[in-house]
Amino acid sequence: MGNCCSHGRESPEDTDEPTPGNGATAQSNPAAETSAAPASKHAPPSPPPATKQGPIGPVLGRPMEDVKASYSLGKELGRGQFGVTHLCTHKATGHQFACKTIAKRKLVNKEDIEDVRREVQIMHHLTGQPNIVELKGAYEDKHSVHLVMELCAGGELFDRIIAKGHYSERAAASLLRTIVQIVHTCHSMGVIHRDLKPENFLLLNKDEDSPLKATDFGLSVFYKPGEVFKDIVGSAYYIAPEVLRRKYGPEADIWSIGVMLYILLCGVPPFWAGKDSSVFLSLVKNNANMQDYTRGERLAFILLGNLLTESENGIFNAILKGQVDFSSDPWPVISPQAKDLVRKMLNSDPKQRLTAAQVLNHPWIKEDGEAPDVPLDNAVMSRLKQFKAMNQFKKVALRVIAGCLSEEEIQGLKEMFKGMDTDNSGTITLEELRQGLAKQGTRLSEYEVQQLMEAADADGNGTIDYGEFIAATMHINRLDREEHLYSAFQHFDKDNSGYITMEELEQALREFGMSDGRDIKEIISEVDSDNDGRINYDEFVAMMRKGNPDPNPKKRRELSFK
Ligand code: ADP
Ligand code: MG
Repeated sequence: MGNCCSHGRESPEDTDEPTPGNGATAQSNPAAETSAAPASKHAPPSPPPATKQGPIGPVLGRPMEDVKASYSLGKELGRGQFGVTHLCTHKATGHQFACKTIAKRKLVNKEDIEDVRREVQIMHHLTGQPNIVELKGAYEDKHSVHLVMELCAGGELFDRIIAKGHYSERAAASLLRTIVQIVHTCHSMGVIHRDLKPENFLLLNKDEDSPLKATDFGLSVFYKPGEVFKDIVGSAYYIAPEVLRRKYGPEADIWSIGVMLYILLCGVPPFWAGKDSSVFLSLVKNNANMQDYTRGERLAFILLGNLLTESENGIFNAILKGQVDFSSDPWPVISPQAKDLVRKMLNSDPKQRLTAAQVLNHPWIKEDGEAPDVPLDNAVMSRLKQFKAMNQFKKVALRVIAGCLSEEEIQGLKEMFKGMDTDNSGTITLEELRQGLAKQGTRLSEYEVQQLMEAADADGNGTIDYGEFIAATMHINRLDREEHLYSAFQHFDKDNSGYITMEELEQALREFGMSDGRDIKEIISEVDSDNDGRINYDEFVAMMRKGNPDPNPKKRRELSFK
């Protein structure tokens, strides 16, 4: 993916459709076309392999590729509504992953296809978040789409809850804290999950204290603050009342995890079958023509309508009535703070329901009940801060790498850019940045906003353009990909000598409007560890990786499947 490289990416307004062929939209880069590997012992062992070019797949919109060429598939790990997941082994390295296979025959209309495409885009968008299953690659062949992901060998949270019965308050609080942090991350990244339930939280390993990972973004959507959704999607026990009423936003995710908290504490769902089916049936009876609905909606109708059992029917009634039972066992012995939080997460009015940040500041969930009310960093902000701390050279290199990423990988950031660029000018002003961050629930001082603005506005012209935004907010784990680093190196090494010289660096900074008069010598000397006055590939890679937090510290250990 993304094996071409150019900074000349089109502006986000140009296209809404992912374009066939990765990176086929980026302008060609003469340096990348003409150059071979730098003739230096420091060069990477071989240039990145060219992707096999097959016919364009109708789902992912890029050349089809046989997943079995690189991976061998093993035993089944689980299955859900749409996919079957198998253990899979990367042939070249022996590393183990999970491969979710979605049969294309199940994708009957345009919306179904868009759902899968979006699932891939959203997983890319959330890459690098520690408690979200990482997507390694997406493949499409004649019959299926395969998502190769990080392996969670500990199984579903659902099974662990069943095995345990229910959790102690302490254990439940600690689990909920992780879950809410995940939801906060999704929301601050402009994503509503829409299918949060214990089956979609996986345990990385079999340890008692295994890290938890959210997965299954098959029903997730990108959203902009204030946007209203109406598709009925989700799973019976966890669906929020406003979703059944077809008017909802990110608050619906909080409801779902409120239901999860209830189950964690007492072992049964809060909304249980009732007697009166009239409320619910009135909601579904007007929806006759199934063809007009998306995959998620049809699923909902199957759940809600045709195949609706008395008990499912009752669940929806109970949800709409919003009455939560706190009188049966074990509720009388559960702390008042726990009940208070459950009530506030299961408030039927989404406007009054707690947000993810508010849940994290509830006394019951805080690691130490007395902890001060610290505002949470959202993901965009922390990335901007990280970007700010980099030297000019590294910023330009990130700019080049941002140009290498495929449409699929940056769709999420593109949506966020569009969300902030409220006047559609193609640039984000200070005011737009301030408002954009405020809408995401981030309270910032004037000084902080200005600092973030300065960080992202690499050329110092007072606004953030699309390229600057992507470079400043893309996740640093993109640097893990050798082909990106290699392409960036080649971009600078115009004469293909295997070294970036002072003149070449100066030219590159100028190209991006970043020659700020700072002594180029100074930048070079920071990076040039062998003091020969120029930068070889090793030095370049070391600079790019220096000071970045390890994106996945547990990676090595998790790879053994028990
Ligand atoms: P669906 O969209 O069909 O619900 P999911 O993404 O939820 O698909 O995957 C179905 C099941 O496959 C999960 O509930 C889980 O049991 C298993 N599974 C999914 N992803 C992984 C993974 N990364 N590691 C291990 N098992 C997984
Ligand atoms: Mg699932």
